[in-house]
Amino acid sequence: MKEIILAKVGEIALKGLNRKNFEDMLLKNIRKKLHPLGRFEAVSSQSTIRITPLDDYIDMDDAALALSRVFGIVTFSRACVTEKDIDKIKAAAKEYLSDIFSENVSFKVESKRSDKKFPYGSPEISKIVGGFLADEFPNITVDVHNPDVTVTVEVRDYAAYVHASVEEGAGGLPVGSGGKAAILISGGIDSPVAAYMMAKRGLALTAIHFASPPYTSERAEEKVASLLELVSEYAGRIDMYTVPFTRIQTEIQKNCPEELFTIIMRRLMMRISNIIAQNTGCQALITGESLGQVASQTLGALACTDEAAEMPVFRPLIGMDKKEIIAISHRINTFETSCLPYEDCCTVFTPKHPKTKPKTDLVRSAENCVDWTDMINEAVENAKITKIGCDNC
Ligand code: ATP
Ligand code: MG
Repeated sequence: MKEIILAKVGEIALKGLNRKNFEDMLLKNIRKKLHPLGRFEAVSSQSTIRITPLDDYIDMDDAALALSRVFGIVTFSRACVTEKDIDKIKAAAKEYLSDIFSENVSFKVESKRSDKKFPYGSPEISKIVGGFLADEFPNITVDVHNPDVTVTVEVRDYAAYVHASVEEGAGGLPVGSGGKAAILISGGIDSPVAAYMMAKRGLALTAIHFASPPYTSERAEEKVASLLELVSEYAGRIDMYTVPFTRIQTEIQKNCPEELFTIIMRRLMMRISNIIAQNTGCQALITGESLGQVASQTLGALACTDEAAEMPVFRPLIGMDKKEIIAISHRINTFETSCLPYEDCCTVFTPKHPKTKPKTDLVRSAENCVDWTDMINEAVENAKITKIGCDNC
């Protein structure tokens, strides 16, 4: 029996003149995501995307899992396809639902007739199909208020569809529809969650990771790449720039007051990230900072860091508690990897008493004791690029 997937778009349906652009981007992302599983047709009509497998060997469980990670889809249902004929719809429903209806369950039928030429109205379709199913499966009962199973019959432009479950999609907007931004990623819990959250709002991602060998190890870099692999399940292809940061950190340590190490380091991270972001078509930076979490994340410290950034800095976790951030990291499967015990360049050079209310002009003059230009350019030039996610993503 032919099974397809019907995916409902959320916010996209509310877009005005731009709607087609969002829809096209979503269709492109769906096709890329499903490409490794076989050939599919994906067509959009009436706020629903119909996804039809074209190869017999396609595993629809895998297809459903892949689609659950595509931003822009709010809900989706696996459905059987049949001709727009009431007897065919009844027969298809009987065959398609035979597994679920082998149990003692209660059910109701809801119908949507978007093809107004179909001779039965929605309430009539529900009545006919519901009555038929109740006769065919003596162990099931009708419950219109609180049913175990809601069967939906949709009579649409080219065919009729029957389904019995609605799964939660990833929500948000299609990746790429909002432009591109650079995520500053450590191996911690927060930054992969921040990356996921901004991809969910439609941003394609480039990733920037600062490494300070030999103080930070290759294993620490591999951990960041593994985290990005998990994020790319949702965000698609990501280029990871690993920036050598040892020389800059050593010079900060030699030349700047200890209490300002972290804030100056973060400003230099921003200056380097600006350049990489601009070179890669990004229009914003993203960090995993949350207000007050550590000394470098007080309001004063964030303002001082922002002053070194030449583009908007998005901090999607700014108002979240650690507990809330961890809940998301569990959901997107990054938590365990984030907890692997590898060092980060930020923690290797931490001062004992960092300034929590740094004055930007004082920080700037302490920073200006050194001309950083050549070191910044050297760091950018020597950044190593790793491609994360599949080529088609
Ligand atoms: P995370 O859990 O993501 O490591 P954190 O709570 O440990 O965050 P910090 O170490 O202060 O916080 O870092 C704050 C933010 O700075 C991170 O979320 C990330 O965006 C960025 N960051 C920290 N270390 C690095 C690094 N080595 N490379 C790139 N960005 C970094
Ligand atoms: Mg960290």
